[in-house]
Amino acid sequence: MSDDLNFHMTPEAFRQAGKEMVDWIADYYESVEEKPVIANVRPGEIRATLPTNPPQKGEPFSQIQKDIDQLILPGITNWQSPNFFAYFPSNTSFPSILGEMLSAGLGVQGMVWKTSPACTELETHVMDWLVHMLGLPEFFLSSSDGGGVIQDTASSAVLCAMLAARERITHNQANKQGVPPHLVAYTSTQAHSSVQKAARIAGIGDENIRLIDVDDAFAMRPEALLEAINSDKSQGKTPFFVSVTTGTTSSMAMDPIEQVGQVLSSEIWLHVDAAMAGSAAVCPEFRDMHNGIERADSYCFNPHKWLLTNFDCSCLFVKDRDALIRSLSILPEYLRTPENEAGAIDYRDWQIPLGRRFRALKLWFVIRHYGIEGLQTHIRQHIELAKHFEEWVSDSNEFVLVAPRSLNTVCFAHRKGNAVTESILQKVNESGKLYASHTVLNGTFTIRMVVGQRTTERRHIQAAWDLFESAALEIAPNGY
Ligand code: PLP
Repeated sequence: MSDDLNFHMTPEAFRQAGKEMVDWIADYYESVEEKPVIANVRPGEIRATLPTNPPQKGEPFSQIQKDIDQLILPGITNWQSPNFFAYFPSNTSFPSILGEMLSAGLGVQGMVWKTSPACTELETHVMDWLVHMLGLPEFFLSSSDGGGVIQDTASSAVLCAMLAARERITHNQANKQGVPPHLVAYTSTQAHSSVQKAARIAGIGDENIRLIDVDDAFAMRPEALLEAINSDKSQGKTPFFVSVTTGTTSSMAMDPIEQVGQVLSSEIWLHVDAAMAGSAAVCPEFRDMHNGIERADSYCFNPHKWLLTNFDCSCLFVKDRDALIRSLSILPEYLRTPENEAGAIDYRDWQIPLGRRFRALKLWFVIRHYGIEGLQTHIRQHIELAKHFEEWVSDSNEFVLVAPRSLNTVCFAHRKGNAVTESILQKVNESGKLYASHTVLNGTFTIRMVVGQRTTERRHIQAAWDLFESAALEIAPNGY
């Protein structure tokens, strides 16, 4: 180990490099629209340009910066391009980036209240704000028996919810003795794969998760759920967990929370996965999707998808925080503090890992910068743009809607069938001018157009539509 502390970057050098990095990021945003949306490289190509061995001696930061442009940027798929319409968005914004920077700068690890009281208390406060901002039930407030916690992802959120449900139904015996084989969980065929993954990790197993059939709009059929539950009960199984989705990954379908809630007995935990769509609830006119939410035991949405907050930031609310904490808390001596003994929140007990980042900062910055009105404008603009796109598809001779437009997501296909639709999508994506992704709905290869980028304007979706149309004319010149 060197005695010379000068091998560290000095505050002065950091000041300069930091300013340059901020400039670089601002320049990136000013030019991202001109860049090809998808990285045009083959697997292994980026790695082949990197030095085989790490440097023996440290390098000047200017050298590292140069390599960002030359070695890294060619391998970046530009998620923040206004022409990115694939998957679901991964929003960010300048206030969020500043919050992330401050979080790294403070270097706080907020595992327990004591390790940084502001990290815990700002999180509690912002989560309470969100309950009001999204019109969620008051039992999710920290002042009630419930409360909210920021997780890394919706996948972790559903796992935590399932673990809490598992412990509740087994009166905390599963943690002690292992998971009994008779527990069964339910979700729809359209639910995100994270629910199945959670069932694996929670020890429920693939054979004990039922994927419930959906209706023509790809929403869970409550009567099919009830049938499955009754059938399991008649075989001596114990239904314990249902996950419904508001905004499914393939087509943004909305499971009917209210009707699902009506067929559930009270011991079955109801989780609502609103990972993508939940952000739209900042606008009162889109809160219908939450009808029946009063029956939910837990609810999750991802500001890192559609609320201008960079990955990772997933908000989980629970109705009964004791159930969650009982399932996840182990208090070793080295984490015991007078404050947690007196009841202060230790968010380590609300999640899988021990350590935790100061994520609330970026969310706080975003909410304060935009205000509720700014966030509403962000959501409404996207939904208006998606409506235009939907109209163009509806009026088109070449394309058809495969599912009803839901919020900002339009699912469409070419009339001539899967092979043509697939070729069109490939051609459009290869142009580098936009990126859209696909799904399969009822056997139909479907293009998903998700309008969710911060800087997407009407001209971008118009250009996207023109591209789809011209690709269609080239690939299937005889129209339909
Ligand atoms: N739930 C839904 C409905 C999703 O669409 C997704 C991802 O797109 C997830 C869960 C998983 O999200 P995360 O990456 O936060 O785990």
